[in-house]
Amino acid sequence: MRRRLVSLLLAHLLPATMQIGSITRSNSMLVDALVRQGLVSDSVVEAAMRSVDRADFCPGQATVAYDDRPLPIGFAATISAPHMHAYALTLLKDHLKPGARVLDVGVGSGYLAACMAEMVKPGGQVYGIDYIGDLVTLAKQNLARNHGEKLGTQIVLAQGDGWHGVPGASFDCIHVGAAAPQLPAALLEQLRAGGRMVIPVGTSQQELQVVDKRQDGSIDTHSVLPVRYVPLVHATARAGRDSAAGAAA
Ligand code: SAH
Repeated sequence: MRRRLVSLLLAHLLPATMQIGSITRSNSMLVDALVRQGLVSDSVVEAAMRSVDRADFCPGQATVAYDDRPLPIGFAATISAPHMHAYALTLLKDHLKPGARVLDVGVGSGYLAACMAEMVKPGGQVYGIDYIGDLVTLAKQNLARNHGEKLGTQIVLAQGDGWHGVPGASFDCIHVGAAAPQLPAALLEQLRAGGRMVIPVGTSQQELQVVDKRQDGSIDTHSVLPVRYVPLVHATARAGRDSAAGAAA
C-alpha cells in the first residue's frame, strides 16, 4: 500500500518524460492496470472509466493515449493522468450520485466531465466550464465521438471563469482542474449544503484539497495529496486586460 502511494506520488510529480505509470494499449487495459495497482477500487468509478475511451479525448495521440501520464491538448493545457482522474472520481464518488448537479471547472479535454456524467445518470447534469473558448470547442468535439447524445442535456459546456463559477447556480459536487492560491469564494457559495469540492490549492507547492460543506453551511477542508496542476488564471481580469490592450493597439 505504502509502495503504491509512493509510486502514485512519483508518477504525478515527475516530468512527463520520467513517468513511471503504466503503459497500455487499450482503454480496458488501462483501467485493468489502474485496478491492479489499487488506484481504482470502486465499481462505479471503474464502470465510468471503462465507458469513456481516453483516446477520444487525446485526438491524434493514439500511440500514447493509454499511458498513465498527462498529455498535451493544446493551448498550454493537458489532459490529466488517468490515475489523477481516478483519484478525483474516487474522492467525489459519494456525491456523484444519480440526479446530482456537478460543476467541472477547467473542463479541458472533456474526459472527466464524461466520466462524471456517467456516474450521475439518470437525471444528473455536469456543467463544464473553461476560460479558453477553443478548449470548450475541443471538449465538444471529443465528446461528440462517443458521447454526443449527452451534449446539451447531461453535459452542458460553456466558456466561463472558474473564479466566478456559474453565477446563480448551485452544485452537489464541484471538481476544479487547475490550482488556485486560495479557495474561490464563488465556488464555496455555489457548493450546496452536504456537497463536496475537490480542488488543487497552492502556487509552487500545491495540495489536492477536499472541501465539504456541512448541512449548517460551515466548511470542512482537508488535504489529501501533494500535486502539480496548471494555475487557475484570473480569466476575467485577463480578458479585460487583453481587450484594453487591443483597444490601445
Ligand atoms: N480536467 C481537464 C484538465 C485540463 S488542464 C482534463 O483532464 O482534460 C486545466 C484546465 O483549466 C485548462 O483547460 C485551463 O484552460 C483551465 N483553466 C485555467 N484557469 C481557468 C479559469 N479561471 N476558469 C476556467 N478554466 C480555467
